[in-house]
Amino acid sequence: MASVADNLAAIRGRLASAVERAGRKASDVELLAVSKTFPVEVLQEAVDAGQTLFGENKVQELLAKQPALPSRLRWHVIGHLQSNKVRKILPIVEAIHSVHSLDLAKDINRIGGELGLYPKVYLEVNVAAESTKFGFKPQGLKEQLDALYALDRLEVQGLMCIPPFSADAEDSRRYFAQLRALRDELEKQGGAPLPKLSMGMSHDFEVAVAEGSTIVRVGSAIFGGR
Ligand SMILES: *Cc1c(COP(=O)(O)O)cnc(C)c1O
Repeated sequence: MASVADNLAAIRGRLASAVERAGRKASDVELLAVSKTFPVEVLQEAVDAGQTLFGENKVQELLAKQPALPSRLRWHVIGHLQSNKVRKILPIVEAIHSVHSLDLAKDINRIGGELGLYPKVYLEVNVAAESTKFGFKPQGLKEQLDALYALDRLEVQGLMCIPPFSADAEDSRRYFAQLRALRDELEKQGGAPLPKLSMGMSHDFEVAVAEGSTIVRVGSAIFGGR
């Protein structure tokens, strides 16, 4: 079985090639190692191989792992976030990828203010209008953009999506392109930059890079099956 270090090296290589094929710079795309369900010993192997950016989808799990690993690591929340968990998580995470509603954004904004923080967030878009997934509908996001931008503690970085799973990575392309086009529209509408696109996972991150991703969320291709 390949080690975490081997897997990471392979993913970094494929990421670098995808970035080059897209005519982009290496510094334009970050690799977020999605470590959910794996114990801290396994995360430490990734740290030893030079990985410093980690994503978890459950707040409790992130809170349990973070103190057991070097304090210089950067943590992102990528999974469904409930308002009652925001206060605990804000002080230790660099960004939240899964802001799925105006109500959650308001809570993050208010608690950010109480804690003296300016939370960095991505707005999650339900690109395929799946009933099983969270996220703003594209039209809803346009309608709520002013209300979101009125939340003065929030640093909205950009958009995030999780397309419907398909074994064929090419099936994700139109959703990634759609997210980028929505970003362009929202930038015009709001007159503010939305530089970041969180898109691409183990099976489709190369396609995501071709379509403008700035941070790919890769789990099983680094750590193995869950
Ligand atoms: C688990 C997860 C990932 C990583 O998925 P892999 O297919 O294991 O790479 C990415 N994004 C989110 C939101 C996840 O929950």
